[in-house]
Amino acid sequence: MTQRVSVVENILNANDRLAEENRVRIESAGVFSINIMASPGAGKTSLIEQTLPRLKDKLRVATIDGDIATSIDADRAAAAGAQAAIQINTGGDCHLDAVMLHGALNQLDLTQFDLLIVENVGNLVCPASFKLGTHKSVLIASIPEGDDKPYKYPGMYRGVDALVINKIDLLPYVNFRMDYFERGVQVLNPEVTTFPLSCRTGEGLDAWVDWIIQNAKKA
Ligand code: MG
Ligand code: ZN
Repeated sequence: MTQRVSVVENILNANDRLAEENRVRIESAGVFSINIMASPGAGKTSLIEQTLPRLKDKLRVATIDGDIATSIDADRAAAAGAQAAIQINTGGDCHLDAVMLHGALNQLDLTQFDLLIVENVGNLVCPASFKLGTHKSVLIASIPEGDDKPYKYPGMYRGVDALVINKIDLLPYVNFRMDYFERGVQVLNPEVTTFPLSCRTGEGLDAWVDWIIQNAKKA
């Protein structure tokens, strides 16, 4: 068992070193970068689709979309206005790691962009363990997933800089106790910036888009 733990630790250490390389590369190009994580169906691609048109003529955006298979998400990002959209197919892996991001960065001239959006593989467990080298980590929770997710997936909630609460238009139809959810978040991550919004109605999207623009200005 001890042997197994040290192998896992070595993999994570190697990943962290490469993530640091990615970070330096992204930063020296003056690009602001975010890593969007969530369970499947929470609305990662939908958020990107709603965000990109609102950034038009303000920021030049590249997306890197991770999925086990298909290029559906990169195609949607390109259709929504991403100047470059690269799909990573993990071939079964349930998360992105720094090596995969490194490979995707090789396909981009970062100096041509202001913002890099990385869409991680839909998963509430291991993406939290694999740093990529992005500036900010964003978690999307969605109302239909239920209000108990901070309690069940603390690792994911603990490490993120921003929390998007998507599908708030469904609150009248779902038993989702916002106070219970927020108490769970508060214990794990009291500093997190929260954006309740609906990708369907557009409610709340302006605050989210402003957060991106303000951070991109600083990068
Ligand atoms: Mg997606
Ligand atoms: Zn995984």
